[in-house]
Amino acid sequence: MLKLVTLLACAILVLTGCTTAGKRTTPPATSTVVQVPVIVPTHSNPPPRIALPAFRTNEFTETWVLLSRWIQVRGFSPPYRLALGAQPVCIVHTSKGLLILQADSQIAYWDEVELHLGFAPQLVGGQLFIHRLDLLKNLEPLLSEPTAGAKSNRVIVIDPGHGGDDPGAASMDGRFEKQYTLDLALRVAPLLIAEGWQVFLTRTNDVAVSLASRVAFAESRKADLFVSLHFNSNAPDQIAAGLTTFCLTPTGMPSTLTRDFSDDVTLIFPNNTNDVKNWEYAFKAHCALLETHLLADRGLQHARFMGVLRGQNRPSILIEGGYLSNPTEARQIADPAFRQKLAEALAKGLK
Ligand SMILES: [Zn+2]
Repeated sequence: MLKLVTLLACAILVLTGCTTAGKRTTPPATSTVVQVPVIVPTHSNPPPRIALPAFRTNEFTETWVLLSRWIQVRGFSPPYRLALGAQPVCIVHTSKGLLILQADSQIAYWDEVELHLGFAPQLVGGQLFIHRLDLLKNLEPLLSEPTAGAKSNRVIVIDPGHGGDDPGAASMDGRFEKQYTLDLALRVAPLLIAEGWQVFLTRTNDVAVSLASRVAFAESRKADLFVSLHFNSNAPDQIAAGLTTFCLTPTGMPSTLTRDFSDDVTLIFPNNTNDVKNWEYAFKAHCALLETHLLADRGLQHARFMGVLRGQNRPSILIEGGYLSNPTEARQIADPAFRQKLAEALAKGLK
């Protein structure tokens, strides 16, 4: 499946006559940063609220759903099937984007954006089946219509990762992730304000803030959306590169990333009530950041261990905006113009 999207690019163009990714954003005219309210989180972590996963539809109750049945129920055209590589590839022209699935691969593409499924689709009797949780939590959310009558002056909490005695990843330029996350947060805040958001930051200077305090802060501000900003590292490896956007893993689904933490699929966290909205916002933010053409796509992924996400009672995402362990990306991230472009793309994507 690696580079499958590249192999299929020509086929997609022939089939659709267009491609959706890749509109370059206008370079920023300025890099003005306005002051945002300084609020020091003081609340303790809210008690866990147990809730069942919110399913978008009850039309599919079987564990493995025949792909063609989903396509028929949704009224899409029959899928195209290509024999590329070891396993067949299915291309589905949905109402909102072009979906590419391959048997035995957890990597799918939606409008050329990489999605990491919880379960690899299975080929049985010549028919492709997709796991119900992937359908409900990873594909159906991307078909949703914009919410009508959404309230104005919505509250967003931007969370610059790390701070204080927690520097985060070390960059090859001698600086640390905590400096770049704060700078990015301070850049995106005024842009979000201009878009009509009420914006709060979990920190506005170089202080340590616990994960629990970050969650409690969002709760205290009655946030409608929580966005945690990070930069990645795979040191000493210098090859890993690109943009990753994370959501909490839905209950029942294995995580894409576990980082050696246990990944008990039976756990239900407060933020699991927002599975669908998490994925929607993650997709919007991820697409907008990719459209800058500044970072390669490492996909939308799920993680269960991220304490800053799982206790949230609102849609929440975590963005890893490139690798500080990669010399090229470290140089990019050190460039204020790069961070400004990320900020502008993010503000646009969350519109
Ligand atoms: Zn980090």
